[in-house]
Amino acid sequence: MIVAMQEKATEEQIQDVIERLVEIGFNVHRTTGTIQTILAGVGTPAVFDPKDFEVLEGVAEVHRISSPYKFAARNFRPQGTIVRFPNGVEVGGDQVVIMAGPCSVESRAQILTIASQVKAAGAKFLRGGAFKPRSSPYSFQGMGLDGLKLLREVGDATGLLIISEVMEISQIELMLPYVDCFQVGARNMQNFNLLREIGQVRKPTLLKRGISGTIEELLLSAEYILAGGNYDLILCERGIRTFETYTRNTMDISAIPVIKKLSHLPMFGDPSHGVGRRDKVPAMARAAVAAGADGLLIEVHPNPDKAISDGAQSLFPEQFEKLMGELRLIAAAVGRSIA
Ligand code: PEP
Ligand code: MN
Repeated sequence: MIVAMQEKATEEQIQDVIERLVEIGFNVHRTTGTIQTILAGVGTPAVFDPKDFEVLEGVAEVHRISSPYKFAARNFRPQGTIVRFPNGVEVGGDQVVIMAGPCSVESRAQILTIASQVKAAGAKFLRGGAFKPRSSPYSFQGMGLDGLKLLREVGDATGLLIISEVMEISQIELMLPYVDCFQVGARNMQNFNLLREIGQVRKPTLLKRGISGTIEELLLSAEYILAGGNYDLILCERGIRTFETYTRNTMDISAIPVIKKLSHLPMFGDPSHGVGRRDKVPAMARAAVAAGADGLLIEVHPNPDKAISDGAQSLFPEQFEKLMGELRLIAAAVGRSIA
């Protein structure tokens, strides 16, 4: 951390800042300029808040140098994290992995149909919510355990891996046998108790960015899971809320290269929630892969106009198939391939 003192800072104020830096575990390197004194705190104290220094008498500016997260930072694993799944699928390697399926599991027929369609087009994961976080308590809340059973049955029959959302701590144990990957949704990005408990299990997890979550907050949320020892973590940009109302959310494509630089964790894009409109989803999916995404989470429904949730943003199976062909070209252009 760098503390720049004000031009008029007194020696007493400078000494006070030095003492506080030492107190929390920094080694202090002092540069006394003709106009201004600069204090460099070197070392890695466990916890400190630069704001505590900003308010001290005589301080002009404070800059944090080290990241506030340790396990999520790129230098924890400079080579990058690869999440390996039982059937050999690897997330975070050279190949871009596609997870696709409906927003919600609705029926046996629906999930059977869509599973074979997304598999035929090249998806490696089947997505589908059994527990649904809905804005309205009157909307369909998901099939629950019955939905999980259908997902597992179809996953085993097709060889597709299963990803589904866990909304609360009590669902973790229940879901473990049925899913290959937990999804923590945007609304739960800062459900710290849930994150901490997911850190305690050994199950790959995809953590979505909250609708108003900054990149740093997402990485701090990831830190909760990693700090518990669950390192099989994937991050996902799914659109954030901005002043723009044309699309459901604003798909922050730039978060992909930013997070790839700041963190070693695989980074996905969810273009479906990112824009909320089927006609814009393929463009955002292509953009995410071009920007370096390690994979995509895409909503596809056998009959989107009849979908119980998120129909407007769900692709028709034929659209998904066409998109997969385009993604293969884009992936090759950026030195990757589609798994
Ligand atoms: C979903 O994937 O269907 C979902 C609810 O996502 P999000 O948490 O991004 O809204
Ligand atoms: Mn959805």
